[in-house]
Amino acid sequence: MTGSKKQLVLVGGGHAHLLTLARISRFVRHGIGVIVIGPSEYHYYSGMGPGMLGGTYAPGQIRFDTRRTVAMGGGVFVKGKVAGVDPAAKAVILSSGERIPYDVVSFNVGSQVSQKIVQPGARDVFPVKPIEGLMAARDRILALARDKRPVIGIAGGGPSAAEIAGNVRHLVRNSGGREPRIYIVPGSRFLARYPGRVRARVQGALTARGMEIMEGRRVREVGSGGMVLDNGHRLSADLIFLAQGVTPSSLFRKSGLATGPDQGLLVNPCLQSVDYPDIFGGGDCIHFREQPLDKVGVYAVRQNPVLFHNLLARLTGDALISFDPGGDYLSILNLGSGRGMLKKGRLTLSGPLAFRIKDFIDRRFMKRFQAFQRS
Ligand SMILES: Cc1cc2nc3c(=O)[nH]c(=O)nc-3n(C[C@H](O)[C@H](O)[C@H](O)COP(=O)(O)OP(=O)(O)OC[C@H]3O[C@@H](n4cnc5c(N)ncnc54)[C@H](O)[C@@H]3O)c2cc1C
Repeated sequence: MTGSKKQLVLVGGGHAHLLTLARISRFVRHGIGVIVIGPSEYHYYSGMGPGMLGGTYAPGQIRFDTRRTVAMGGGVFVKGKVAGVDPAAKAVILSSGERIPYDVVSFNVGSQVSQKIVQPGARDVFPVKPIEGLMAARDRILALARDKRPVIGIAGGGPSAAEIAGNVRHLVRNSGGREPRIYIVPGSRFLARYPGRVRARVQGALTARGMEIMEGRRVREVGSGGMVLDNGHRLSADLIFLAQGVTPSSLFRKSGLATGPDQGLLVNPCLQSVDYPDIFGGGDCIHFREQPLDKVGVYAVRQNPVLFHNLLARLTGDALISFDPGGDYLSILNLGSGRGMLKKGRLTLSGPLAFRIKDFIDRRFMKRFQAFQRS
């Protein structure tokens, strides 16, 4: 029971909740209380994460002040991590054990990189998510580069591996350090989900700058000082990034909610849980029943207006609207040193202009949503 005042709970201040966070005052005007729960007062924009690692952006340029935005809208920010949901009692359960009741709840808790291959206690191993972890990786790389030629290993070969590789090199070279040795172990093919000409151009851009891509090899184990491949070879590394792809949190499955094959919250076209109509979700943590969506921020961002509308509509008795994922999306990789790789449909563009387009779009996006955290 939540008393007479209705309560909206937003779990995670991720990319799909940005518009709802910016419009909390609209809920408050309807007499609805809004609680936002997140492990950090800030939310980091992943699109600029590799650029922050490489030193192109300062951390303050790529984050949203969630606590401040919530307070300015008239909501309440609770610092904590949600570990489960009790849909029968209509409450979310924090890892501290505290229960927070809701009338309507929306999840935007993202996804994470599996750490199954990491030996317990391994040092200097950094998953590419959460993005804030890249700040500590950057500091560690700079410390290493002061004393030696750093060796950086990357497990996984998707777009984030390519961006991390290019930006680590950029970081070390700009710090005056010696050319780092950077190798990528992609599992199967490097950038396997990209068309051949994009793969070839990115591969060419990275290898021309001395980076190694070991196609056909998988990482079996990661520990302090190196990794073991599927063929038993040991490769040494001072620091390792984990970039083997992401999966949604297991909290929905553990809570007994319907989930997709990737364990994301199974939602209908209204971004609403298929079995509990007061539970919604967006971004990487959902499985969209109509068509599986790539785990890219583009979809989370496109879901903003639908989530905002449907959360308010569910609480006020209005009709819900459906999410249309739209067609192919623009993808631009930041390959470091002011270079990028752009792909949209059959159009591709590589080099400085591609990076400048990404930089422009990302800065404009940040400016739009950071405006809501200023008085
Ligand atoms: C290095 C890198 C670069 C990328 N670049 C791009 C790009 O250029 N373009 C693109 O489209 N996609 C990009 N992606 C993919 C993109 O990161 C994800 O698709 C995007 O972050 C999904 O947004 P989200 O809001 O669902 O999740 P997240 O960004 O992960 O946000 C989840 C939020 O929930 C909070 N949270 C997590 N767990 C809990 C919990 N238990 N309780 C409460 N709160 C919680 C987190 O603190 C965070 O604020 C990139 C990914 C990586 C790793």
